[in-house]
This record gives sequence, C-alpha cells and structure tokens, in this order.
Amino acid sequence: MSSVRVRFAPSPTGYLHIGGARTALYNWLWAKKTGGTFVLRVEDTDVARNTEESTQAIFTAMDWLGLDWDEGPRVGGDHGPYFQQQRLPLYREQADRLVAEGKAYRCYATREELAAARAEYEAEHGKKGFKYPGWWRDKTEADWPTDDRPYVYRLKVPREGATGWDDLVKGHIEIGHREMQDEVMMRSDGIPLYNFGCVVDDLDMRITLVARGDDHVINTPMQILMWKALGAEPPQFAHLPMILDERRKKMSKRDDAGSVEIYRERGFVPDGVLNYLARLGWSHGDDELLTREELIEKFDWSGVGKEGAGYDEKKFLHVEAHHLRAMPGEALAAAALPFAAKSGLTIAPDDPRLVPAVETVRQRAVTLADVADMIDYYFRETPIEDEKAAKKFFQAKHLEPLRSFRALVAAQDDFDRVPLEEATKAWMEAESIGFKDYAQTVRVALSGRGATPGLFEVMEVLGKERCLARLDAALARIAAEG
Ligand code: GLU
Repeated sequence: MSSVRVRFAPSPTGYLHIGGARTALYNWLWAKKTGGTFVLRVEDTDVARNTEESTQAIFTAMDWLGLDWDEGPRVGGDHGPYFQQQRLPLYREQADRLVAEGKAYRCYATREELAAARAEYEAEHGKKGFKYPGWWRDKTEADWPTDDRPYVYRLKVPREGATGWDDLVKGHIEIGHREMQDEVMMRSDGIPLYNFGCVVDDLDMRITLVARGDDHVINTPMQILMWKALGAEPPQFAHLPMILDERRKKMSKRDDAGSVEIYRERGFVPDGVLNYLARLGWSHGDDELLTREELIEKFDWSGVGKEGAGYDEKKFLHVEAHHLRAMPGEALAAAALPFAAKSGLTIAPDDPRLVPAVETVRQRAVTLADVADMIDYYFRETPIEDEKAAKKFFQAKHLEPLRSFRALVAAQDDFDRVPLEEATKAWMEAESIGFKDYAQTVRVALSGRGATPGLFEVMEVLGKERCLARLDAALARIAAEG
C-alpha cells in the first residue's frame, strides 16, 4: 500500500448527487492507481438536515457504481469512527488543546452584541465586509465568565500575511489574512462547524490529498490555518470544477438530472455512468470510451479542467450505450430482468430464450429499460399489439401472402436464422411475392410491433411453435375483420 490517502466526505442530506459521485470517483481512481487508501467519512453534524435514509442512499449509490472504500462505515479501519457524530469528544479535545496553546480562544460575545456591531459597521461601510472584531482574542481563562454561559471556539487568524497553496487543478491560490476573520470552529455544545470537523478528521485519518468540489476553495485557506494550528503540515488539495447543466448553470441537488439514483432507475449501467462522470471535467487526449481499468490507468489530476464541466445528455447516452453493448449476454440479460418486471413481465432467469433474445436487441438498446422493452414480446403469451401497426398491416390484401408464409413456416424444420432466410427467399421467388407484400404483416403478427430486429432473428428466438401460433392469430383476425 502506498502512502496516498484520499477520502470522500459526504453530508447525508439527500441522494448522492452526480457531482458528489464524481468527487468520490476521482478519489477512488487515484487510490486505485497509486495503490493508496480510499476513506469514506460521513459528515453528519447537521442534525436538522441529515437523515439515516440519505446515508443509506449514498451507500447504495456507491455500491451500485462499484466505488468501494478501504476504510469507513461497514468496513471499519484504524482511524474510525467514520461518522462525525461519533467523533465529538475528539473535536472537543483538539479545540481545548488549541485554546490551551493560545492558538484559539473562547469567545463569549452574545448574538445581540454581534448584531449591534454588525449594524454599526454596515451603517458606516455598507453591507459587505463585516468581521468579528476579536473582543475575546486576547483574553485568558481568568476572564471567562464563571456561570455556564454559552461560548464559541474561535481560531486566532494571523492579522498579517497570507495563506496559499498550489492546487493540483487550479494552480496557486492565495488569500490575505485581512480578508479573513477569527473563524468559529465549534460551539460550546461540542458540535464542530464544517471547517474544523473536516480538518480534525482529515488530520486524524492521515489524509494526504483532499479532492472536492471547487465550491470549497473559499474554505481551504481557513482549513490550512487550522492544520498549522494543530501542528501539522496541510495535505495537497485538488478542487474540481462544478458540473453545469445544459443551460451552463450550476447543476443543483434539486435538478432532475442531478442524482445518481435517477440513472439507475432509467436503466443506465454503472460502467457507463462512471465513464461519463469521469469525462465530465477530466480528459485524456481524445479518449471518450474507457473501461474501469483504463480509467484507473489514465486518470491524473493534470487532466482535470479548471472551469465548469457541461452536462450533455446526448454524450451521456452515447457513452452509456457503448458500455451496455459491451456487456456479456448473461450479465446484460440478468441486469435487464428487473426492468422487465417493472412493466409486469416475469421472465425466469434461466429461460433458454432470454440470452438469445437479448442478443437480438443489444445493438439497438441504450439502457436496460430499452432492452427490457425490446424483448417484451418474446416472452408474453400474446404480444401487446400496436394498434396503429396492426391496422396498417392486417388488411384483406395481406391475407393470402400471410397464409402462404404460414405454410412455408409449417414446412420448415431448421429454424436457425440462415436456413430460414434462404427458405423464405426461395419461397418469394417461387410465389413472386415481394418483401413489402408480407414482411411487415409477419413482423406485426409475431411481435405486435412495426419495428423489431431482423425477422429471421426474431423467428429463431421465438421458435417454430410460437411463430405458428402468432401467425394463426393474425390470420384469424384479418379473416374476421376483412
Ligand atoms: N461534507 C462536505 C460536503 O459534502 C465535504 C467537503 C469536503 O470534502 O471537504 O460538501
């Protein structure tokens, strides 16, 4: 194992967003590539917004994508627990240590005092720029009130100088300390604020590289100061460009295309989602279609773009279709079964027609839902009829050619597609029947649809008995209506 330690630190406030999934993916790829460790930490300190359901939804989405973690919930590890709510004593210990060392302080300023100071500032300077004036910065334990009044822990941010870092994606970033204020790290109830909890954990979990969305760039200078206050060297940072929707606006958690769950429900295959997410903000030459192994081999922070990455549904479908079509028949069939069940069709997993049926449609399908829909008629006793197609191709003039075709089928014993096609060609010649005289009628008779894979492929999968039964049903209907 290398010394690389990366992490994904979601806050469980909803489904796993594709931005979050991409952050997890890049970290996972980097750990796999370097032989490092991928840690999962749940940042669940926002009790009002966090739910157990959301935590589980995040795990489910990660499982589905195949993003397994080396340390974290369910698997354990040497640096746990991996839920922040279970780590509260640690934050308290570190906050008290920083106070004892004079690097942080207890601030007893009340809400009212702060509001008054802010109002005074704004009256003079306008809305922007108010900073906590540091009333308690230089006080000592002797000054603390003796009752149990609430307080907050604040970091002593240096008054002069600047803090910067060389971001692996964005390059050098620096912020002057004058633009910062003594940040609240924790309230007296012992719940850390995001920056402090994050740093205590990243340090304790020996994280060597923090990769996350670039909405966190503004937090990084404060986090670096906290690392230093805690007596440690900060890790490397990589800030990833936001995912933009098709109108080039930041894709929000509420956006329909935003959650991983949506793609699972639509029948996307995990490798397709991983490939597209990887490419959304990262590139490697002109490579577009990459397997998991290729992603691991080729991924590098230098290929991550600095600016927003535009979501493009058409590209996504292209990538998705490629991965779906590359799946082995058995796996593709198994993955499509739940989608068939959703439309009320139960197919036995060991049905001998299943894999051959899937093979006839794989090149036309984009999602598993497509596969399920396209194989539907192979398995229903009576196919669901497209009435428009039936009206058009079940007419009196179709009766004779269909009857003749039925006789051909009845006489045909070798039901593989090639001999079927050859026999049909000979029949067309002998009877002077053209393709357009019978083919669509036969298609609708066999499948209920106006569009299917090649007729002989469909017939081969259906088998002689079912073909005859469906041709007979169509003949009866035409005769009755004709
Ligand atoms: N819980 C934070 C979030 O979901 C983590 C940010 C980070 O990776 O530091 O945005």
